[in-house]
Amino acid sequence: DSLAADTTTTATCGYCATGCGLRLHLKDGEAVGLTPETTYPVNLGMACPKGWEALRVLDSPERATQPLLRDDSGKRSPITWDDAFTKFCDGMKKVQAEHGPESIAFLSTGQIACEEMAFLGALARFGMGIRHCDGNTRQCMATAVTAYKESFGFDSPPYTYDDFEQSDCLVFIGANPCIGHPIMWERVLRNPNNPEIIVIDPRRTETAAAATQHLQLRPKNDLALLYAITNELITRDFVDHDFVQNHTQGFDELREHVAQYDLATVCEEAGLGVDDVSHAVEAIGRGRAVSLWWTMGVNQSYQGTRTAQAIINIALITGNIGRPGTGANSITGQCNAMGSRLWSNTTNLFGHHSFDNDADRHKVAEALNIPVEQIPTTTSWKYDRIIEGIRNGEIKGLWVVATNPAHSWIDQGDVRELFDQLDFLVVQDMYQTTETCSHADLILPSAGWGEKEGTFINSERRYGLLKKVRHAPGQALADFQIFRGIAHRWGLGDMFADWSSPEAAFEIMQRASRDQPSDITGIQGYEQIDRCGGIQWPWSEDHASGGFEPEQQRRLFADGQFFYDDKRARLIVDDVTPMPEPSDGDYPVVLLTGRGTVSQWHTQTRTRQSPLLRSLYPNQPYVEMHPNDAEELGIEHGDLVRVRSRRGHADATACLTHSVQPGQAFMPMHYECTNRLTLSHFDPHSGQPSYKDCAVRIAPV
Ligand code: SF4
Repeated sequence: DSLAADTTTTATCGYCATGCGLRLHLKDGEAVGLTPETTYPVNLGMACPKGWEALRVLDSPERATQPLLRDDSGKRSPITWDDAFTKFCDGMKKVQAEHGPESIAFLSTGQIACEEMAFLGALARFGMGIRHCDGNTRQCMATAVTAYKESFGFDSPPYTYDDFEQSDCLVFIGANPCIGHPIMWERVLRNPNNPEIIVIDPRRTETAAAATQHLQLRPKNDLALLYAITNELITRDFVDHDFVQNHTQGFDELREHVAQYDLATVCEEAGLGVDDVSHAVEAIGRGRAVSLWWTMGVNQSYQGTRTAQAIINIALITGNIGRPGTGANSITGQCNAMGSRLWSNTTNLFGHHSFDNDADRHKVAEALNIPVEQIPTTTSWKYDRIIEGIRNGEIKGLWVVATNPAHSWIDQGDVRELFDQLDFLVVQDMYQTTETCSHADLILPSAGWGEKEGTFINSERRYGLLKKVRHAPGQALADFQIFRGIAHRWGLGDMFADWSSPEAAFEIMQRASRDQPSDITGIQGYEQIDRCGGIQWPWSEDHASGGFEPEQQRRLFADGQFFYDDKRARLIVDDVTPMPEPSDGDYPVVLLTGRGTVSQWHTQTRTRQSPLLRSLYPNQPYVEMHPNDAEELGIEHGDLVRVRSRRGHADATACLTHSVQPGQAFMPMHYECTNRLTLSHFDPHSGQPSYKDCAVRIAPV
């Protein structure tokens, strides 16, 4: 089809936070094909299979194409948008009238554009009086946000993708970029420095297999190991004393704390060799440019925030920050998780301000041209507390936007029952077949990637452009237009009159960003973002007039100045906490969960719509087991087994592999049965679910 194209345009991919540029081949304005963009500064002319198939999944028969209302008998019938907006507003207002204004909540996503999440957050919290709301970024990035905020004074991943190519030592902790972020991994492969690549992970992942060293520790020994490594770095005097003295606070407390973590003892508990860890310490200590990278193995942990900060501490005390090839670098998951972090208006006020700061509320009110009294003084409950609120009967109405918690939330059996207790559940999604849609009273059909406009922010803080290159099917509308419709029907048309288009919303966001570390007041509209191949934040008016080029790669902290008033980063430590549900005689296996393939995405809502992507991955659930464990249980490769936890069970095909250690198993998150098993527990600082450490037993079926 792309042979018939008459022109091309470039847009940012809508799956992962790499933010690749995709060249859309257009015929009469409609995309008929795509190829990876060769000139976009992110992706080196490549795309992973999900990106290549980005158009295919738009054509699915499972698309939601008209609003659907469920009647008392459970039957769903199509209704007009006019009726849908009325039903939405009447239903939510009825819940508020019966149970109080705080009895409705929303759960949103890192999958919609910045302008859409900004509109949703502003409409809900400043207009509709919704107090409690959160995003699915709580499931992936909340830990990194909290860790950066406490350590640096602002949620600020410091790196650019060039750093993958400029390090002489890269350390990946709980990260598998080979399949999670394959284009980033390509940059590691291009690194000309013959770098040391150290992977800290309980599984022998694809990345671990390609590394120069794999520290295959027992699950949840990561924090103790990082403290032991820090202790060794200090003991062997691999500390950058000038940097520590001039740019950090808390070194004496750090040194005293980590002294408890004797290398031999920690290695014994973690199942590692002392010499192996010593080698890693030397590589980090002697490296000229060391970068440390983490993803969900760290973030999705009951001690994730402190683990992320232990990584940050290592970068800080060795002076590995602000220079090419360095950094304590959280890699983001979803295409716009970074946008959600800045603009969702849930636990942080619009633009990463504070609800309890009077000056911040006045500033945001002015930027949005609304009375400051409309801005609440308190933050939202986090996701887990909203779920608890449904259980307690405090939340009776729920609006779910572009996320699928009935599959993805931890301990999903419980969540599904809770959704059925709601008085009114609205799901706004591209597809009408998600597990969450099956519980909905009202389904609002939304346009997807390629069918609407806006911006995404990738892992290196780059605003990239999303473009409308297809007509949405049936009556599906862009989320932005759905929010406009709701604003008008709710009676808030005047309050949100300025939100006339995504680009108009972007201008509001720019005003709100002024003088923040994430200031984007220097961006000259969508046209400049498009022309420059995306623009990294910060890009303030000062940047724009200061002789810099927007195309330049920019890492943070080159001047050693952090975002606290005293400009110093904080070195934060804490006690290591035990695993809440360790394996025992009844449940002798620790279950790890995570991404299983490059070809599927999260709950498979989109990726299963592509026959090609489906063909690259088993359609039936599987569980990775160590051959020794399987032999003891009389299980052979390919047998059907039952994986049971204290909360439920899942039947899966046994995959015997040495990638997991004896006493451990792995199931991908892409199958809906995986979260029937997981234990509902959370990082106390970030509220992020700890998906990777519940106890199970496995038996032949
Ligand atoms: Fe899209 Fe991520 Fe694949 Fe790039 S690596 S094509 S951004 S899914």
